[in-house]
Amino acid sequence: MPAVEKKDRILLSAPHMTGNEMNYISEAFETNWIAPIGPNVDKFEEELAAYVGTAGGAALSSGTAAIHLALSLLDVGKDDRVFCSTLTFVASANPILYVGAEPVFIDSEEETWNMSPIALRKAFQAAEQEGRLPKAVIVVNIYGQSAKMDELMAICQEYDVSIIEDAAESLGSLYKGKKSGTIGKFGIFSFNGNKIITASSGGMLVSNDQKSLEKARFLGSQAKDPAPFYKHHVVGYNYRMSNVLAGIGRAQLEVIDQRVCTRREIFERYAEGLKDIPAINFQPELEDTYSNRWLSVMMLDPELTIITPEVIKQALEAENIESRNVWNPLHRQELFKDAQFFAHDGEEAVSEKIFREGLCLPSGSNMTEDQQKRVIEVIKDLFIQH
Ligand SMILES: *Cc1c(COP(=O)(O)O)cnc(C)c1O
Repeated sequence: MPAVEKKDRILLSAPHMTGNEMNYISEAFETNWIAPIGPNVDKFEEELAAYVGTAGGAALSSGTAAIHLALSLLDVGKDDRVFCSTLTFVASANPILYVGAEPVFIDSEEETWNMSPIALRKAFQAAEQEGRLPKAVIVVNIYGQSAKMDELMAICQEYDVSIIEDAAESLGSLYKGKKSGTIGKFGIFSFNGNKIITASSGGMLVSNDQKSLEKARFLGSQAKDPAPFYKHHVVGYNYRMSNVLAGIGRAQLEVIDQRVCTRREIFERYAEGLKDIPAINFQPELEDTYSNRWLSVMMLDPELTIITPEVIKQALEAENIESRNVWNPLHRQELFKDAQFFAHDGEEAVSEKIFREGLCLPSGSNMTEDQQKRVIEVIKDLFIQH
């Protein structure tokens, strides 16, 4: 055996097909429904809404498109303000810029890593003094963990502002018995290739407000007015999901609960395998919530080790293992350099600390136990050497 043979690559979160996808795709081909409408799209909407427990869903081309349409439905436009979690993927906030609104970023708290109710309160008070309240608040549930929705909802209700719940990473997670993404006025999911289930790409807007969902479908298909000729009175988008991809989504949704279980088992194995290293902690799970553990994310305490996330990342990469930094807070991005930011508390923003100390470990549900052992061994070896 060649000693230098490279070990198989372990990816952060690879697509995991069930085998049933081809049946739905074949049916779409046989019936020639190769379009952004069709029976798979309708069924996927019904099935996902039934799974999460909302009145309905609108299947779209991406999670980003779903956020964009949610903002449009809330009538957010030029020079309006939108509050948004800072510790997230840029896709949470890009749609704020699409509609010409001003993003204001809100720090995380340490118990969920999501939007801090304390920072949100500060942001509302400052906005009230300026006489410019936000039109919407985008709350993100990162890595599968739900934000403190009760506290955030209470504050938003006081100011009569709607929440868009970015649940792109938290399909299948629970908050106090409710499915993540169903607590705000609108919820959005993503079926991008790296999410817990995937349609290769795609998204869904969910809500209990059927009228709004109907409007989302209208806006998402070029806003064609019901008329025997081409008639338009508002700007529309080409945002509907393809019937072929909706077929992939349907097959994937059949196994969502298994995928959540597997990702949670992966998390448990990391926690168990690394528990003897005091410098390593993991993203917490708030009481009365259930995370899908989309990604297992560890934190390194700099007071207990000189090993940084960067060192671990490089050691893993040397073994052909992919890992990623935690989201780089959006208030630190050049793109948003003029945006206001409200911190949780203390000297350093909580989101910045999590960014500095965190590392996302490979968490795909099709990872083998042996592959996971490799990851754990690389990390353990580093701590033995230091
Ligand atoms: C993936 C993701 C999105 C965007 O979803 P797409 O389907 O890729 O457009 C939005 N928000 C968060 C937090 C995400 O992780």
